[in-house]
Amino acid sequence: MIPKIEKSSIAEIKAFQEEKLKETLRYLNENSPFYKRFFKENSIQISEIKTLEDIQKIPVTTKDHLQRFNDDFICVPKTEIIDYVTTSGTLGDPVTFALTDADLERLAYNEAISFACCGVGKEDTLQLMTTMDRRFMAGLAYFLGARKLGSGIIRVGSGIPELQWDSILKFKPTYLITVPSFLLKLIEYAQQREIDLQNTGVKAAICIGEPIREQDFSLNILAKKIKRDWDIELFSTYASTEMSTAFNECEIHNGGHHHPELIIAEILDDNNLPVSEGEVGELTITTLGVQAMPLLRFKTGDMVQSYNEPCECGRKTLRLGPVVGRKKQMIKYKGTTLYPPAMYNILNDFSGIESYVIEIFHNELGTDEILIKIASEKISEELLLEIKDHFRAKLRVAPKVEFATSEEIETLRFPPLSRKPVDLIDRRL
Ligand SMILES: [Zn+2]
Repeated sequence: MIPKIEKSSIAEIKAFQEEKLKETLRYLNENSPFYKRFFKENSIQISEIKTLEDIQKIPVTTKDHLQRFNDDFICVPKTEIIDYVTTSGTLGDPVTFALTDADLERLAYNEAISFACCGVGKEDTLQLMTTMDRRFMAGLAYFLGARKLGSGIIRVGSGIPELQWDSILKFKPTYLITVPSFLLKLIEYAQQREIDLQNTGVKAAICIGEPIREQDFSLNILAKKIKRDWDIELFSTYASTEMSTAFNECEIHNGGHHHPELIIAEILDDNNLPVSEGEVGELTITTLGVQAMPLLRFKTGDMVQSYNEPCECGRKTLRLGPVVGRKKQMIKYKGTTLYPPAMYNILNDFSGIESYVIEIFHNELGTDEILIKIASEKISEELLLEIKDHFRAKLRVAPKVEFATSEEIETLRFPPLSRKPVDLIDRRL
């Protein structure tokens, strides 16, 4: 099930998207209180935007816009809204997203073709290991996508290894949809109870929320750990509520595929201009076919690289590499640009490190400093040197590293108001 447009030539895809773009601009100009005002304030004549290049004449939409003018983004009356979801906003308050019946249908289509990209078909059964409620979009999208594709789906929800294994053994799902680090918990549970991991019937996992690949598409440490004990195929996927669209890997595993009928993707530099090919930039998206809350040139905050050559699977759409990091977490250190995920990868690789926390702050010159605090049972100069050497080898620079007690690190990682542990404390603001 590959939509025809995804196998079309790059020129055909461009022409197709330009028609969709014009439709979207007309729709926004008629129905979106925010964009009507935005076009007027910025003297944008939508009739002058005809090509994908012309889109650069329109200023970008930011997360702050979404938060400050949330209701003005909604293009339909309340009677048309079926589902409400929320995302965390940059200024603290959550941002609401509304979906109409047509938006739910679009979401189902998106997820169906994205699952199909990972090889899921009608004969498959998926086990959903993430929550479907709590105002999240993803779980619902997975359910709707499976239904559209005709695949079976078992809604187990997050956590509870015992219930997950009960379902795997009882219903024999072929695909799992899960946060990849949770697979380590499932493996541990299976090993303790002598469940035979080689004969579960599970073929693959669709991995959400955490990266499983390095920038060169090789498996990262987490993925290698999983596959060492449980050799199932791992597919990465990248999606967000704002995009209402997913970029899933195909069987070739060289980046998440773009669906041109659903979204326009731009990779922009600090001046909101397209980066050159092969460069990392901020993913900026324009949704296509969204009814309740379409977004135009929305800056996602995610730094990525795109790949434009056709894929061996037959699709000619662009592909996105693993997210390099969040734009606001970018660190300029000794002339090198770094993102925290690359540092986590290195630290997670050391068996001698029990726990760690990374602090980023400005020094007296106003430039970025990195201090990594580490708890270890084998405190030694050798370990410090080893860590620094590893940083130099992988990232070309070595940050400051110092030892701390486990208690100190736990206190830093679990601040009173945070629901999740923090690995990074950014004191630059
Ligand atoms: Zn492909």
